[in-house]
Amino acid sequence: SKRKGRSTYTYYDTGLNSTSERRFNLEQRLPKAIAEDELVLHFQPKVNLSDFRIVGFEALVRWQHPELGLVYPDDFIPLAEETGLIVELGEWVARSCCRQQAAWQAEGLDCVALAINMSPLQLQREELPSRIESLLTEHDVPADVIEIEITETVLLKSLEATVMVLRRLEALGVQISLDDFGSGFSSLSYVRTLPIHIIKIDKQFIRDIRNSTHDGVLVASIISLAHNLGMQVIAEGVETLEQLIYLKTAGCDQAQGYYFSRPVPAASARDLLRNGVLA
Ligand code: C2E
Ligand code: CA
Ligand code: CA
Ligand code: CA
Repeated sequence: SKRKGRSTYTYYDTGLNSTSERRFNLEQRLPKAIAEDELVLHFQPKVNLSDFRIVGFEALVRWQHPELGLVYPDDFIPLAEETGLIVELGEWVARSCCRQQAAWQAEGLDCVALAINMSPLQLQREELPSRIESLLTEHDVPADVIEIEITETVLLKSLEATVMVLRRLEALGVQISLDDFGSGFSSLSYVRTLPIHIIKIDKQFIRDIRNSTHDGVLVASIISLAHNLGMQVIAEGVETLEQLIYLKTAGCDQAQGYYFSRPVPAASARDLLRNGVLA
Protein backbone atom coordinates (compact mmCIF):
# COMPACT_ATOMS: atom_id res chain seq x y z
CA SER A 1 0.00 0.00 0.00
CA LYS A 2 1.07 3.59 -0.54
CA ARG A 3 0.18 6.50 1.63
CA LYS A 4 -2.01 9.09 -0.04
CA GLY A 5 -2.92 12.26 1.79
CA ARG A 6 -3.40 12.11 5.49
CA SER A 7 -5.31 9.01 6.25
CA THR A 8 -6.25 7.59 2.90
CA TYR A 9 -4.43 4.54 1.63
CA THR A 10 -4.53 3.15 -1.87
CA TYR A 11 -4.19 -0.59 -2.15
CA TYR A 12 -2.90 -2.05 -5.35
CA ASP A 13 -4.53 -5.33 -6.14
CA THR A 14 -1.56 -6.92 -7.90
CA GLY A 15 0.55 -6.75 -4.77
CA LEU A 16 3.62 -6.52 -6.99
CA ASN A 17 4.58 -2.96 -6.42
CA SER A 18 7.46 -3.16 -4.06
CA THR A 19 10.75 -4.61 -5.07
CA SER A 20 10.63 -7.29 -2.41
CA GLU A 21 7.10 -8.38 -3.33
CA ARG A 22 8.12 -8.57 -6.96
CA ARG A 23 11.15 -10.59 -6.04
CA PHE A 24 9.08 -12.89 -3.86
CA ASN A 25 6.56 -13.41 -6.66
CA LEU A 26 9.29 -14.17 -9.18
CA GLU A 27 11.02 -16.59 -6.87
CA GLN A 28 7.79 -18.45 -6.03
CA ARG A 29 6.75 -18.76 -9.61
CA LEU A 30 10.06 -19.57 -11.27
CA PRO A 31 9.83 -23.39 -11.00
CA LYS A 32 6.40 -23.25 -12.65
CA ALA A 33 7.71 -20.87 -15.30
CA ILE A 34 10.42 -23.34 -16.27
CA ALA A 35 8.05 -26.31 -16.24
CA GLU A 36 5.30 -24.56 -18.18
CA ASP A 37 7.38 -22.85 -20.84
CA GLU A 38 6.88 -19.27 -19.72
CA LEU A 39 10.52 -18.70 -20.62
CA VAL A 40 11.46 -17.63 -24.10
CA LEU A 41 14.77 -17.18 -25.87
CA HIS A 42 15.68 -14.11 -27.84
CA PHE A 43 18.61 -14.26 -30.23
CA GLN A 44 21.19 -11.57 -30.94
CA PRO A 45 23.35 -11.94 -34.05
CA LYS A 46 27.12 -12.06 -33.95
CA VAL A 47 28.64 -10.58 -37.08
CA ASN A 48 31.93 -11.37 -38.80
CA LEU A 49 33.69 -8.04 -39.36
CA SER A 50 35.41 -9.10 -42.57
CA ASP A 51 32.21 -9.66 -44.55
CA PHE A 52 29.38 -8.66 -42.17
CA ARG A 53 27.86 -12.11 -42.35
CA ILE A 54 26.04 -13.54 -39.35
CA VAL A 55 28.28 -16.18 -37.79
CA GLY A 56 26.06 -17.01 -34.86
CA PHE A 57 23.55 -15.84 -32.29
CA GLU A 58 23.68 -15.46 -28.55
CA ALA A 59 20.63 -16.96 -26.85
CA LEU A 60 19.30 -14.63 -24.13
CA VAL A 61 16.51 -15.83 -21.90
CA ARG A 62 13.42 -13.78 -21.05
CA TRP A 63 10.40 -14.61 -18.94
CA GLN A 64 6.98 -14.02 -20.40
CA HIS A 65 5.31 -13.45 -17.04
CA PRO A 66 1.49 -13.58 -17.13
CA GLU A 67 1.14 -10.51 -14.89
CA LEU A 68 4.42 -8.65 -15.21
CA GLY A 69 4.99 -8.94 -18.93
CA LEU A 70 8.45 -9.55 -20.33
CA VAL A 71 10.92 -9.91 -17.46
CA TYR A 72 14.64 -9.59 -18.22
CA PRO A 73 17.28 -12.02 -16.97
CA ASP A 74 18.93 -9.63 -14.52
CA ASP A 75 15.67 -9.91 -12.53
CA PHE A 76 15.57 -13.69 -12.28
CA ILE A 77 18.93 -15.27 -13.15
CA PRO A 78 20.39 -14.22 -9.78
CA LEU A 79 17.33 -15.76 -8.04
CA ALA A 80 17.78 -18.93 -10.06
CA GLU A 81 21.44 -19.04 -9.08
CA GLU A 82 20.68 -18.56 -5.37
CA THR A 83 18.01 -21.26 -5.31
CA GLY A 84 19.84 -23.75 -7.52
CA LEU A 85 17.04 -23.59 -10.10
CA ILE A 86 19.64 -22.38 -12.57
CA VAL A 87 20.47 -26.01 -13.30
CA GLU A 88 16.94 -26.72 -14.54
CA LEU A 89 16.72 -23.35 -16.26
CA GLY A 90 20.04 -24.03 -17.98
CA GLU A 91 18.81 -27.40 -19.13
CA TRP A 92 15.72 -25.70 -20.60
CA VAL A 93 17.94 -23.18 -22.43
CA ALA A 94 20.24 -25.88 -23.81
CA ARG A 95 17.31 -28.01 -24.96
CA SER A 96 15.61 -25.01 -26.59
CA CYS A 97 18.81 -24.12 -28.45
CA CYS A 98 19.22 -27.66 -29.77
CA ARG A 99 15.58 -27.67 -30.83
CA GLN A 100 16.03 -24.31 -32.56
CA GLN A 101 19.12 -25.55 -34.39
CA ALA A 102 17.26 -28.65 -35.54
CA ALA A 103 14.36 -26.51 -36.82
CA TRP A 104 16.65 -24.14 -38.74
CA GLN A 105 18.57 -27.04 -40.22
CA ALA A 106 15.35 -28.73 -41.32
CA GLU A 107 14.52 -25.50 -43.13
CA GLY A 108 17.87 -25.57 -44.89
CA LEU A 109 19.13 -22.34 -43.34
CA ASP A 110 22.86 -21.68 -42.99
CA CYS A 111 24.28 -23.49 -40.02
CA VAL A 112 25.53 -20.96 -37.48
CA ALA A 113 26.48 -21.33 -33.84
CA LEU A 114 24.08 -20.68 -30.98
CA ALA A 115 25.77 -19.44 -27.83
CA ILE A 116 24.40 -20.39 -24.42
CA ASN A 117 25.24 -18.45 -21.25
CA MET A 118 26.30 -20.76 -18.43
CA SER A 119 26.36 -19.96 -14.75
CA PRO A 120 29.17 -21.16 -12.49
CA LEU A 121 26.90 -23.67 -10.72
CA GLN A 122 26.11 -25.42 -14.00
CA LEU A 123 29.76 -25.71 -14.87
CA GLN A 124 30.61 -27.32 -11.56
CA ARG A 125 28.36 -30.24 -12.28
CA GLU A 126 30.17 -33.27 -13.56
CA GLU A 127 27.16 -34.46 -15.52
CA LEU A 128 26.90 -31.30 -17.67
CA PRO A 129 28.97 -32.60 -20.63
CA SER A 130 26.98 -35.84 -20.86
CA ARG A 131 23.69 -33.90 -20.59
CA ILE A 132 24.78 -31.65 -23.45
CA GLU A 133 25.94 -34.67 -25.42
CA SER A 134 22.57 -36.41 -25.10
CA LEU A 135 20.68 -33.25 -26.06
CA LEU A 136 22.84 -32.98 -29.18
CA THR A 137 22.20 -36.62 -30.07
CA GLU A 138 18.49 -36.37 -29.32
CA HIS A 139 18.09 -33.42 -31.71
CA ASP A 140 20.70 -34.62 -34.19
CA VAL A 141 22.69 -31.40 -33.88
CA PRO A 142 26.50 -31.29 -34.36
CA ALA A 143 28.46 -30.03 -31.33
CA ASP A 144 30.25 -27.30 -33.26
CA VAL A 145 27.04 -25.28 -33.66
CA ILE A 146 26.70 -24.98 -29.90
CA GLU A 147 28.88 -22.52 -28.08
CA ILE A 148 28.96 -21.75 -24.40
CA GLU A 149 29.71 -18.41 -22.82
CA ILE A 150 31.30 -18.46 -19.41
CA THR A 151 32.51 -15.64 -17.19
CA GLU A 152 35.57 -15.70 -15.05
CA THR A 153 33.36 -15.96 -11.93
CA VAL A 154 33.44 -19.69 -12.70
CA LEU A 155 36.97 -19.59 -11.40
CA LEU A 156 36.16 -18.25 -7.99
CA LYS A 157 34.93 -21.69 -6.91
CA SER A 158 35.91 -25.25 -7.74
CA LEU A 159 38.48 -24.37 -10.33
CA GLU A 160 39.53 -27.96 -10.89
CA ALA A 161 36.01 -29.34 -11.31
CA THR A 162 35.18 -26.53 -13.72
CA VAL A 163 38.29 -26.99 -15.83
CA MET A 164 37.49 -30.68 -16.10
CA VAL A 165 33.92 -30.00 -17.25
CA LEU A 166 35.15 -27.43 -19.78
CA ARG A 167 37.74 -29.84 -21.17
CA ARG A 168 35.06 -32.48 -21.66
CA LEU A 169 32.79 -29.98 -23.41
CA GLU A 170 35.71 -28.96 -25.60
CA ALA A 171 36.34 -32.61 -26.43
CA LEU A 172 32.73 -32.90 -27.62
CA GLY A 173 33.46 -30.09 -30.06
CA VAL A 174 31.60 -27.31 -28.24
CA GLN A 175 33.18 -23.83 -28.61
CA ILE A 176 33.92 -21.92 -25.41
CA SER A 177 33.86 -18.12 -25.08
CA LEU A 178 35.09 -16.06 -22.17
CA ASP A 179 32.39 -13.43 -21.65
CA ASP A 180 32.74 -9.97 -20.07
CA PHE A 181 36.49 -10.07 -20.57
CA GLY A 182 38.27 -7.29 -18.74
CA SER A 183 35.40 -6.51 -16.39
CA GLY A 184 36.48 -8.47 -13.36
CA PHE A 185 39.57 -10.15 -12.07
CA SER A 186 40.71 -11.43 -15.46
CA SER A 187 44.25 -12.38 -15.44
CA LEU A 188 46.28 -13.93 -18.16
CA SER A 189 46.79 -17.05 -16.10
CA TYR A 190 43.03 -17.71 -16.20
CA VAL A 191 43.05 -17.52 -19.94
CA ARG A 192 45.89 -20.01 -20.00
CA THR A 193 44.24 -22.41 -17.55
CA LEU A 194 40.92 -22.64 -19.37
CA PRO A 195 40.19 -24.09 -22.79
CA ILE A 196 38.99 -20.83 -24.32
CA HIS A 197 38.44 -20.34 -28.05
CA ILE A 198 36.91 -16.89 -28.12
CA ILE A 199 37.36 -13.82 -25.95
CA LYS A 200 34.41 -11.48 -25.67
CA ILE A 201 35.41 -7.93 -24.77
CA ASP A 202 33.06 -6.47 -22.17
CA LYS A 203 30.78 -3.71 -23.40
CA GLN A 204 32.07 -1.20 -20.84
CA PHE A 205 35.30 -0.93 -22.85
CA ILE A 206 33.46 -0.48 -26.13
CA ARG A 207 31.27 2.39 -24.96
CA ASP A 208 33.94 5.12 -25.02
CA ILE A 209 36.37 3.40 -27.30
CA ARG A 210 36.62 6.44 -29.56
CA ASN A 211 36.98 9.14 -26.95
CA SER A 212 38.96 7.36 -24.30
CA THR A 213 42.53 6.69 -25.36
CA HIS A 214 42.75 4.41 -22.37
CA ASP A 215 39.88 2.14 -23.48
CA GLY A 216 41.06 2.23 -27.08
CA VAL A 217 44.53 1.04 -26.11
CA LEU A 218 43.06 -1.60 -23.84
CA VAL A 219 40.82 -3.00 -26.55
CA ALA A 220 43.66 -3.04 -29.07
CA SER A 221 45.85 -4.93 -26.56
CA ILE A 222 43.15 -7.48 -25.80
CA ILE A 223 42.78 -8.11 -29.53
CA SER A 224 46.47 -8.69 -30.10
CA LEU A 225 46.80 -10.75 -26.93
CA ALA A 226 43.96 -13.02 -28.03
CA HIS A 227 45.36 -13.38 -31.52
CA ASN A 228 48.80 -14.22 -30.19
CA LEU A 229 47.22 -16.98 -28.10
CA GLY A 230 45.39 -18.30 -31.17
CA MET A 231 41.96 -17.11 -30.03
CA GLN A 232 39.25 -15.17 -31.80
CA VAL A 233 37.89 -11.89 -30.41
CA ILE A 234 34.35 -10.56 -30.35
CA ALA A 235 33.26 -7.15 -29.07
CA GLU A 236 29.86 -6.85 -27.37
CA GLY A 237 27.74 -3.74 -26.91
CA VAL A 238 28.57 -2.22 -30.29
CA GLU A 239 26.02 0.54 -30.80
CA THR A 240 27.56 2.98 -33.28
CA LEU A 241 29.28 2.99 -36.65
CA GLU A 242 32.25 4.78 -35.06
CA GLN A 243 32.76 1.94 -32.60
CA LEU A 244 32.42 -0.56 -35.41
CA ILE A 245 35.05 1.18 -37.55
CA TYR A 246 37.44 1.39 -34.63
CA LEU A 247 37.06 -2.33 -33.92
CA LYS A 248 37.39 -3.39 -37.54
CA THR A 249 40.53 -1.26 -37.90
CA ALA A 250 41.96 -2.78 -34.71
CA GLY A 251 41.52 -6.26 -36.20
CA CYS A 252 38.61 -7.46 -34.07
CA ASP A 253 37.08 -10.61 -35.61
CA GLN A 254 33.42 -10.29 -34.69
CA ALA A 255 30.97 -7.85 -33.16
CA GLN A 256 27.58 -7.92 -31.52
CA GLY A 257 25.33 -5.09 -30.40
CA TYR A 258 22.37 -2.83 -31.03
CA TYR A 259 24.12 -1.33 -34.06
CA PHE A 260 23.39 -4.59 -35.88
CA SER A 261 20.37 -5.84 -34.01
CA ARG A 262 18.81 -6.09 -30.59
CA PRO A 263 18.14 -9.60 -29.31
CA VAL A 264 15.03 -10.71 -31.26
CA PRO A 265 12.50 -13.56 -31.10
CA ALA A 266 13.24 -16.74 -33.05
CA ALA A 267 11.08 -15.81 -36.05
CA SER A 268 12.96 -12.54 -36.57
CA ALA A 269 16.32 -14.21 -36.01
CA ARG A 270 15.40 -16.65 -38.75
CA ASP A 271 14.67 -13.77 -41.14
CA LEU A 272 18.03 -12.18 -40.32
CA LEU A 273 19.70 -15.51 -40.97
CA ARG A 274 17.97 -15.92 -44.31
CA ASN A 275 19.32 -12.55 -45.33
CA GLY A 276 22.74 -13.53 -44.04
CA VAL A 277 24.41 -10.12 -44.11
CA LEU A 278 23.99 -7.24 -41.68
CA ALA A 279 24.99 -3.55 -41.80
P1 C2E B 1 25.58 -10.98 -21.04
O1 C2E B 1 25.83 -12.43 -21.29
O2 C2E B 1 26.76 -10.12 -20.83
O3 C2E B 1 24.67 -10.50 -22.25
C1 C2E B 1 24.78 -9.24 -22.86
C2 C2E B 1 23.67 -8.30 -22.42
O4 C2E B 1 23.86 -7.05 -23.10
C3 C2E B 1 22.28 -8.77 -22.80
O5 C2E B 1 21.37 -8.31 -21.80
C4 C2E B 1 22.04 -8.04 -24.12
O6 C2E B 1 20.67 -7.87 -24.43
C5 C2E B 1 22.70 -6.72 -23.84
N1 C2E B 1 23.14 -6.05 -25.07
C6 C2E B 1 23.31 -6.56 -26.30
N2 C2E B 1 23.74 -5.63 -27.18
C7 C2E B 1 23.86 -4.47 -26.48
C8 C2E B 1 24.25 -3.12 -26.84
O7 C2E B 1 24.60 -2.81 -27.97
N3 C2E B 1 24.25 -2.20 -25.82
C9 C2E B 1 23.87 -2.51 -24.56
N4 C2E B 1 23.88 -1.54 -23.65
N5 C2E B 1 23.49 -3.77 -24.19
C10 C2E B 1 23.49 -4.73 -25.14
P2 C2E B 1 20.22 -9.26 -21.24
O8 C2E B 1 19.60 -10.03 -22.36
O9 C2E B 1 19.35 -8.43 -20.38
O10 C2E B 1 21.02 -10.31 -20.36
C11 C2E B 1 21.66 -9.91 -19.17
C12 C2E B 1 22.52 -11.03 -18.62
O11 C2E B 1 21.71 -12.13 -18.17
C13 C2E B 1 23.48 -11.63 -19.63
O12 C2E B 1 24.62 -10.80 -19.75
C14 C2E B 1 23.78 -12.97 -18.96
O13 C2E B 1 24.77 -12.81 -17.98
C15 C2E B 1 22.47 -13.30 -18.29
N6 C2E B 1 21.73 -14.31 -19.08
C16 C2E B 1 20.93 -14.13 -20.16
N7 C2E B 1 20.45 -15.31 -20.60
C17 C2E B 1 20.97 -16.26 -19.80
C18 C2E B 1 20.85 -17.70 -19.73
O14 C2E B 1 20.19 -18.37 -20.54
N8 C2E B 1 21.53 -18.34 -18.73
C19 C2E B 1 22.30 -17.65 -17.83
N9 C2E B 1 22.96 -18.36 -16.89
N10 C2E B 1 22.46 -16.33 -17.86
C20 C2E B 1 21.79 -15.63 -18.83
CA1 CA C 1 26.91 -13.59 -22.76
CA1 CA D 1 28.80 -10.03 -21.79
CA1 CA E 1 27.33 -9.63 -18.19
